[in-house]
Amino acid sequence: MASTEVLTLDLNFQGMKQAIAVYLIKHSSGAILIECGPGTTLPALQAGLKANGLSPSDITHVFLTHIHLDHAGSAGWWSRQGAQVIVHPNGAPHMADPEKLLASATRIYGDKMDTLWGEFLPVQRDRLRVMNDEEEIAIGRLRIRAINSPGHAEHHYVYLFEDLAFTGDVGAVRIPGYPYLQPPMPPPELNFGKWHETLKRIRKEKINRIAPTHFGIFDDPQWHLDQVESELTAAEKWLETVMPSGPEIEELRRKFMDWMNEQARAQGLNAGTVRAYELANPLGMSADGLMRYWKKVRMAG
Ligand SMILES: [Zn+2]
Repeated sequence: MASTEVLTLDLNFQGMKQAIAVYLIKHSSGAILIECGPGTTLPALQAGLKANGLSPSDITHVFLTHIHLDHAGSAGWWSRQGAQVIVHPNGAPHMADPEKLLASATRIYGDKMDTLWGEFLPVQRDRLRVMNDEEEIAIGRLRIRAINSPGHAEHHYVYLFEDLAFTGDVGAVRIPGYPYLQPPMPPPELNFGKWHETLKRIRKEKINRIAPTHFGIFDDPQWHLDQVESELTAAEKWLETVMPSGPEIEELRRKFMDWMNEQARAQGLNAGTVRAYELANPLGMSADGLMRYWKKVRMAG
Protein backbone atom coordinates (compact mmCIF):
# COMPACT_ATOMS: atom_id res chain seq x y z
CA MET A 1 0.00 0.00 0.00
CA ALA A 2 1.30 3.44 -0.90
CA SER A 3 1.92 5.53 2.16
CA THR A 4 -0.36 8.45 2.94
CA GLU A 5 1.21 11.88 2.69
CA VAL A 6 2.14 13.50 5.98
CA LEU A 7 2.87 17.22 5.73
CA THR A 8 5.11 19.11 8.11
CA LEU A 9 3.85 22.61 8.90
CA ASP A 10 6.42 24.98 10.39
CA LEU A 11 4.91 27.24 13.06
CA ASN A 12 7.82 29.70 12.85
CA PHE A 13 7.75 29.90 16.62
CA GLN A 14 9.15 33.27 17.81
CA GLY A 15 10.16 33.94 14.20
CA MET A 16 12.39 30.86 14.13
CA LYS A 17 12.21 28.16 11.50
CA GLN A 18 12.28 24.47 12.46
CA ALA A 19 11.57 24.92 16.18
CA ILE A 20 7.97 23.64 16.44
CA ALA A 21 6.14 21.48 13.91
CA VAL A 22 2.55 20.43 13.43
CA TYR A 23 1.88 17.41 11.22
CA LEU A 24 -1.06 17.42 8.83
CA ILE A 25 -2.74 14.39 7.29
CA LYS A 26 -5.70 14.75 4.93
CA HIS A 27 -8.56 12.27 4.83
CA SER A 28 -11.82 11.87 2.93
CA SER A 29 -13.79 14.39 5.00
CA GLY A 30 -11.15 16.86 6.18
CA ALA A 31 -7.79 16.56 7.86
CA ILE A 32 -6.17 15.76 11.18
CA LEU A 33 -3.36 17.44 13.03
CA ILE A 34 -0.73 15.84 15.21
CA GLU A 35 -0.04 18.62 17.77
CA CYS A 36 -1.40 22.12 17.32
CA GLY A 37 1.25 24.37 18.86
CA PRO A 38 0.62 27.34 21.15
CA GLY A 39 -1.83 30.22 20.72
CA THR A 40 0.90 32.56 19.46
CA THR A 41 1.46 30.46 16.33
CA LEU A 42 -2.18 30.12 15.24
CA PRO A 43 -1.70 32.61 12.36
CA ALA A 44 1.25 30.56 11.04
CA LEU A 45 -0.71 27.33 11.38
CA GLN A 46 -3.73 28.79 9.61
CA ALA A 47 -1.46 30.05 6.82
CA GLY A 48 -0.01 26.54 6.52
CA LEU A 49 -3.49 25.06 6.23
CA LYS A 50 -4.51 27.64 3.67
CA ALA A 51 -1.47 26.83 1.56
CA ASN A 52 -2.80 23.27 1.51
CA GLY A 53 -6.31 24.33 0.55
CA LEU A 54 -7.74 23.88 4.04
CA SER A 55 -9.47 26.10 6.58
CA PRO A 56 -9.69 25.55 10.37
CA SER A 57 -13.17 24.03 10.12
CA ASP A 58 -11.70 21.21 7.99
CA ILE A 59 -9.72 19.93 10.96
CA THR A 60 -11.67 17.01 12.42
CA HIS A 61 -9.16 15.79 15.03
CA VAL A 62 -6.14 17.13 16.89
CA PHE A 63 -3.91 14.44 18.42
CA LEU A 64 -1.78 15.79 21.26
CA THR A 65 1.34 13.86 22.23
CA HIS A 66 1.21 15.70 25.54
CA ILE A 67 -0.12 18.89 27.06
CA HIS A 68 2.99 21.07 27.31
CA LEU A 69 2.12 24.49 25.90
CA ASP A 70 4.41 24.35 22.87
CA HIS A 71 2.49 21.25 21.73
CA ALA A 72 -1.04 21.83 22.97
CA GLY A 73 -1.58 25.51 23.84
CA SER A 74 -4.08 26.21 21.07
CA ALA A 75 -6.12 22.98 21.52
CA GLY A 76 -9.03 24.85 23.16
CA TRP A 77 -9.26 27.16 20.17
CA TRP A 78 -9.34 24.12 17.86
CA SER A 79 -12.13 22.56 19.90
CA ARG A 80 -14.13 25.74 19.25
CA GLN A 81 -13.64 25.27 15.51
CA GLY A 82 -15.22 21.83 15.86
CA ALA A 83 -12.17 19.58 16.16
CA GLN A 84 -12.03 16.65 18.53
CA VAL A 85 -8.99 16.91 20.80
CA ILE A 86 -7.35 13.58 21.61
CA VAL A 87 -5.15 13.25 24.64
CA HIS A 88 -3.71 10.88 27.27
CA PRO A 89 -6.04 10.22 30.23
CA ASN A 90 -3.59 11.94 32.62
CA GLY A 91 -3.57 15.07 30.47
CA ALA A 92 -7.29 15.35 29.76
CA PRO A 93 -8.43 16.99 33.03
CA HIS A 94 -5.86 19.77 32.55
CA MET A 95 -7.05 20.51 29.04
CA ALA A 96 -10.65 20.99 30.19
CA ASP A 97 -9.60 22.92 33.29
CA PRO A 98 -6.13 24.37 32.66
CA GLU A 99 -5.75 26.40 35.87
CA LYS A 100 -3.05 24.16 37.39
CA LEU A 101 -1.24 23.66 34.08
CA LEU A 102 -1.06 27.42 33.53
CA ALA A 103 0.03 28.05 37.14
CA SER A 104 2.91 25.61 36.79
CA ALA A 105 3.90 27.04 33.39
CA THR A 106 3.82 30.54 34.91
CA ARG A 107 6.29 29.37 37.58
CA ILE A 108 8.68 28.41 34.77
CA TYR A 109 8.08 31.21 32.22
CA GLY A 110 6.94 34.13 34.43
CA ASP A 111 6.23 37.32 32.50
CA LYS A 112 7.17 35.64 29.22
CA MET A 113 3.98 33.52 29.27
CA ASP A 114 2.02 35.76 26.89
CA THR A 115 4.81 36.44 24.40
CA LEU A 116 5.70 32.76 24.19
CA TRP A 117 2.37 31.02 24.37
CA GLY A 118 -0.48 33.51 23.88
CA GLU A 119 -4.02 32.56 24.75
CA PHE A 120 -4.82 29.14 26.23
CA LEU A 121 -8.51 28.32 26.09
CA PRO A 122 -9.95 25.31 27.91
CA VAL A 123 -10.89 22.47 25.58
CA GLN A 124 -14.66 22.10 25.34
CA ARG A 125 -15.56 18.97 27.28
CA ASP A 126 -17.73 17.46 24.56
CA ARG A 127 -14.77 17.77 22.15
CA LEU A 128 -12.27 16.11 24.44
CA ARG A 129 -11.50 12.46 23.75
CA VAL A 130 -9.25 10.23 25.79
CA MET A 131 -7.42 7.36 24.12
CA ASN A 132 -6.30 4.30 26.01
CA ASP A 133 -2.88 2.74 25.69
CA GLU A 134 -2.72 0.66 22.47
CA GLU A 135 -6.09 1.96 21.32
CA GLU A 136 -6.52 2.63 17.61
CA ILE A 137 -8.73 5.34 16.17
CA ALA A 138 -10.06 5.04 12.61
CA ILE A 139 -10.80 8.21 10.65
CA GLY A 140 -11.88 7.33 7.14
CA ARG A 141 -8.99 5.17 5.89
CA LEU A 142 -6.54 6.52 8.45
CA ARG A 143 -5.54 4.41 11.45
CA ILE A 144 -3.79 6.01 14.40
CA ARG A 145 -2.64 4.05 17.43
CA ALA A 146 -1.57 5.51 20.75
CA ILE A 147 1.18 4.06 22.90
CA ASN A 148 1.78 5.14 26.44
CA SER A 149 5.22 6.72 26.62
CA PRO A 150 6.29 8.16 29.98
CA GLY A 151 9.78 9.49 30.68
CA HIS A 152 9.50 13.12 29.55
CA ALA A 153 6.02 13.44 31.13
CA GLU A 154 3.51 11.02 32.64
CA HIS A 155 0.79 12.15 30.23
CA HIS A 156 2.70 11.44 27.02
CA TYR A 157 1.61 9.36 24.02
CA VAL A 158 3.49 8.37 20.91
CA TYR A 159 1.15 8.05 17.92
CA LEU A 160 1.79 5.41 15.30
CA PHE A 161 0.58 5.98 11.79
CA GLU A 162 1.54 3.57 8.99
CA ASP A 163 5.37 3.41 9.08
CA LEU A 164 5.74 6.57 11.12
CA ALA A 165 6.00 7.31 14.85
CA PHE A 166 5.07 10.78 16.06
CA THR A 167 7.23 10.94 19.13
CA GLY A 168 6.37 14.31 20.70
CA ASP A 169 9.20 15.05 23.13
CA VAL A 170 10.03 11.50 24.19
CA GLY A 171 11.84 11.15 20.84
CA ALA A 172 13.95 14.17 21.86
CA VAL A 173 14.59 17.37 19.92
CA ARG A 174 16.42 17.06 16.61
CA ILE A 175 16.79 20.17 14.48
CA PRO A 176 17.65 19.05 10.93
CA GLY A 177 21.16 19.41 9.55
CA TYR A 178 23.40 17.76 12.15
CA PRO A 179 23.81 14.25 13.57
CA TYR A 180 22.83 15.57 16.97
CA LEU A 181 19.79 15.68 19.25
CA GLN A 182 18.82 16.74 22.77
CA PRO A 183 16.29 15.10 25.10
CA PRO A 184 14.21 17.80 26.85
CA MET A 185 14.16 16.95 30.56
CA PRO A 186 11.67 19.23 32.33
CA PRO A 187 10.28 18.93 35.86
CA PRO A 188 8.27 17.46 37.46
CA GLU A 189 7.98 14.01 35.84
CA LEU A 190 11.34 13.39 34.17
CA ASN A 191 12.19 9.75 34.75
CA PHE A 192 15.17 8.10 33.05
CA GLY A 193 14.08 4.54 33.82
CA LYS A 194 10.63 5.03 32.32
CA TRP A 195 12.11 6.90 29.35
CA HIS A 196 14.42 3.98 28.52
CA GLU A 197 11.46 1.59 28.77
CA THR A 198 9.50 3.83 26.38
CA LEU A 199 12.34 3.73 23.84
CA LYS A 200 12.39 -0.07 24.05
CA ARG A 201 8.68 -0.11 23.40
CA ILE A 202 8.95 2.15 20.34
CA ARG A 203 11.69 -0.11 18.98
CA LYS A 204 9.23 -3.02 18.93
CA GLU A 205 7.11 -1.23 16.35
CA LYS A 206 7.81 -1.57 12.65
CA ILE A 207 8.66 2.01 11.80
CA ASN A 208 10.71 3.47 8.97
CA ARG A 209 10.25 7.09 9.96
CA ILE A 210 10.27 9.09 13.15
CA ALA A 211 8.79 12.54 13.65
CA PRO A 212 9.67 14.45 16.82
CA THR A 213 7.63 17.65 17.19
CA HIS A 214 10.93 19.55 17.24
CA PHE A 215 11.46 19.08 14.25
CA GLY A 216 10.55 17.15 11.15
CA ILE A 217 10.31 13.65 9.70
CA PHE A 218 13.50 11.55 9.69
CA ASP A 219 14.02 8.26 7.94
CA ASP A 220 16.63 6.77 10.29
CA PRO A 221 14.58 5.75 13.33
CA GLN A 222 17.09 3.19 14.60
CA TRP A 223 19.97 5.66 14.60
CA HIS A 224 17.67 8.27 16.10
CA LEU A 225 16.51 6.04 18.97
CA ASP A 226 20.11 4.93 19.63
CA GLN A 227 21.07 8.58 19.98
CA VAL A 228 18.19 9.40 22.34
CA GLU A 229 19.25 6.41 24.41
CA SER A 230 22.90 7.44 24.60
CA GLU A 231 22.08 11.11 25.30
CA LEU A 232 19.86 10.04 28.21
CA THR A 233 22.54 7.75 29.57
CA ALA A 234 25.12 10.52 29.26
CA ALA A 235 22.86 13.03 31.04
CA GLU A 236 22.20 10.71 33.96
CA LYS A 237 25.91 9.87 34.28
CA TRP A 238 26.75 13.56 34.18
CA LEU A 239 24.20 14.18 36.93
CA GLU A 240 25.86 11.50 39.05
CA THR A 241 29.19 13.31 38.77
CA VAL A 242 27.88 16.77 39.72
CA MET A 243 25.30 16.05 42.43
CA PRO A 244 27.52 14.62 45.18
CA SER A 245 28.96 18.13 45.83
CA GLY A 246 25.39 19.34 46.57
CA PRO A 247 25.08 22.22 44.08
CA GLU A 248 22.31 24.80 44.44
CA ILE A 249 19.98 25.06 41.45
CA GLU A 250 21.75 28.13 39.98
CA GLU A 251 25.05 26.28 40.00
CA LEU A 252 23.51 23.16 38.48
CA ARG A 253 21.91 25.26 35.72
CA ARG A 254 25.25 26.91 34.96
CA LYS A 255 27.15 23.64 34.89
CA PHE A 256 24.50 21.94 32.77
CA MET A 257 24.47 24.78 30.23
CA ASP A 258 28.28 24.69 30.02
CA TRP A 259 28.21 20.94 29.47
CA MET A 260 25.49 21.09 26.82
CA ASN A 261 26.96 24.12 25.04
CA GLU A 262 30.30 22.38 24.80
CA GLN A 263 28.62 19.48 22.97
CA ALA A 264 26.74 21.86 20.67
CA ARG A 265 30.02 23.61 19.85
CA ALA A 266 31.69 20.28 19.11
CA GLN A 267 28.92 19.64 16.56
CA GLY A 268 29.62 23.02 14.93
CA LEU A 269 25.93 24.04 14.96
CA ASN A 270 25.18 27.27 13.12
CA ALA A 271 23.60 30.21 14.98
CA GLY A 272 20.09 29.55 13.68
CA THR A 273 20.20 25.93 14.82
CA VAL A 274 21.49 26.95 18.26
CA ARG A 275 18.56 29.36 18.56
CA ALA A 276 16.04 26.72 17.43
CA TYR A 277 17.39 24.37 20.11
CA GLU A 278 17.09 27.10 22.75
CA LEU A 279 13.46 27.70 21.81
CA ALA A 280 12.53 24.03 21.60
CA ASN A 281 14.50 22.96 24.65
CA PRO A 282 15.35 25.67 27.21
CA LEU A 283 18.39 24.25 29.02
CA GLY A 284 17.56 25.87 32.36
CA MET A 285 14.31 23.92 32.38
CA SER A 286 16.16 20.63 31.88
CA ALA A 287 18.51 21.53 34.74
CA ASP A 288 15.45 22.05 36.96
CA GLY A 289 14.09 18.69 35.80
CA LEU A 290 17.39 16.99 36.58
CA MET A 291 17.50 18.51 40.08
CA ARG A 292 13.98 17.34 40.83
CA TYR A 293 14.62 13.88 39.41
CA TRP A 294 17.72 13.57 41.59
CA LYS A 295 15.88 14.57 44.77
CA LYS A 296 12.52 12.90 44.22
CA VAL A 297 13.49 9.73 42.35
CA ARG A 298 17.19 8.95 42.87
CA MET A 299 17.43 9.98 46.52
CA ALA A 300 14.06 8.42 47.34
CA GLY A 301 14.92 5.16 45.57
ZN1 LIG B 1 7.19 18.55 26.46
